[in-house]
Amino acid sequence: MIAPDWFRDDRLPHIYCTGCGNGTVINCTLAAVEEMGWKRNETVFISGIGCSSRAPGYILTDSLHTTHGRALAFATGVKMARPDLHVVVFTGDGDLAAIGGNHFIHACRRNVDMTVVCMNNHIYGMTGGQGSPTTPPGAISTTTPYGMSEPAFDLAELAVAAGANYVARWTSYHVKELTKAVAAGMQTPGLAFIEVRTQCPTNYGRHNKLRRVSEMIEHLRSHAMLVAKRDRLVAEGKPIPEGAFTVGELVRRSRPAMGVRP
Ligand code: SF4
Repeated sequence: MIAPDWFRDDRLPHIYCTGCGNGTVINCTLAAVEEMGWKRNETVFISGIGCSSRAPGYILTDSLHTTHGRALAFATGVKMARPDLHVVVFTGDGDLAAIGGNHFIHACRRNVDMTVVCMNNHIYGMTGGQGSPTTPPGAISTTTPYGMSEPAFDLAELAVAAGANYVARWTSYHVKELTKAVAAGMQTPGLAFIEVRTQCPTNYGRHNKLRRVSEMIEHLRSHAMLVAKRDRLVAEGKPIPEGAFTVGELVRRSRPAMGVRP
C-alpha cells in the first residue's frame, strides 16, 4: 500500500526496529495524502524529535525536522507565512505532550489549519524507554522501574477540550480506519488531531510482558473500544473495562480556524 510517489527509497534502510508500528502509521498517512490528491510541492511535513519524528525524512517533499517538542510551533509559523501549503505534523507522545505540551494545547486552541498525527507508543523510544505523559499507570519504563505511579494524559480528549476541529483515535492494528480518519482530518479546516496507539516492542513491550510484536498488536486490538460502545456502557451505568480506550471519531466541528487555505 506504500505510496511510491511520496516515498524516498534512497533513504533506505530506515532506522526503525523490526516490528515497530511507526512505518504502518507513515504508510496510512501517505495513503490519505494520495487520496486527497495533494501535490508534493504544496505539501510540507514537519516533526520534532523522536522515533516518530524521523518520518518526514522518508518522504519526498520539503520538510522540517525541528527541535524537541517544537514541531507545532514551527508548523504554525509555516502556516502563517504560507497558508496555501498543506501542513502535516508527525509527532510522538513524549515530543507532543511533555516538552511540547503547551504548543499542543495552544495550537488546538488557535485551531491552526494542519493535520497532526501522533504516534503514541507510551514511552520515549529513541532515548531508551523513559516514561512519558502517556505511560499507563503501573507500566514499567526505565524511569519507572517499580511501575508508573502517575495518571496518563488522554491525548485525544485533551485535543477535544483544547478546541481542535477534528479529533480521532485509532491504533496501528486499524489500518483502514486510520487511513480514513487521517483523510477526514485533512478535509476538515482547522487543526485535525489523529492519535495512533502504536507498538514499540523494543522499549515498551519487552519491559511490560508484551515481548512479541503480535502480542502488542493484539493488546491494542483487544483494548480498543468504539466511542459508541463506551457511550452505551456509560448510559447503562455499566463499568468501562480496565485498560480500555476509545477509538473512532471524537469530534468534527467548525470552530473558527487560523491559516486556512485561501
Ligand atoms: Fe520503534 Fe520503539 Fe524502535 Fe523507536 S525504539 S524505532 S518506537 S520500536
